[in-house]
Amino acid sequence: MTQTELNKYRAVLEARMAELSAGLRNREDIAIEKTPDALDEVQLAGERELAIRNLDRESNLLRNVRAALHRIEEGSYGVCLHCEEDIKAKRLDAVPWTRYCIRCQEAADRHEFETDTSDASEILLHAA
Ligand SMILES: [Zn+2]
Repeated sequence: MTQTELNKYRAVLEARMAELSAGLRNREDIAIEKTPDALDEVQLAGERELAIRNLDRESNLLRNVRAALHRIEEGSYGVCLHCEEDIKAKRLDAVPWTRYCIRCQEAADRHEFETDTSDASEILLHAA
């Protein structure tokens, strides 16, 4: 990968990191919101659960983005962590924080090898 490409992905990842960090900060108050109404309480509990799930997903994504930035610093960015082949530019353009080439990602999605749970965030993003 050229320095220009690396700079491009770094810029994308840094923007994403800033966006996610800001989003996570703004949402902290949802979890402690209170209401005197019992019905609202139920609805709020649902919203809270959803917010917490989103928060989970976004903090996982943030972790993946940070890890990708770390790999840029290390010089290992763009290489699949499983088979050590280069990840295709098209895939990096779509999912710049990915750790796996498309083949290994599909294998991971089928649980053919051990990954940590943060991969779920990528699957959810694809589904969106
Ligand atoms: Zn691979």
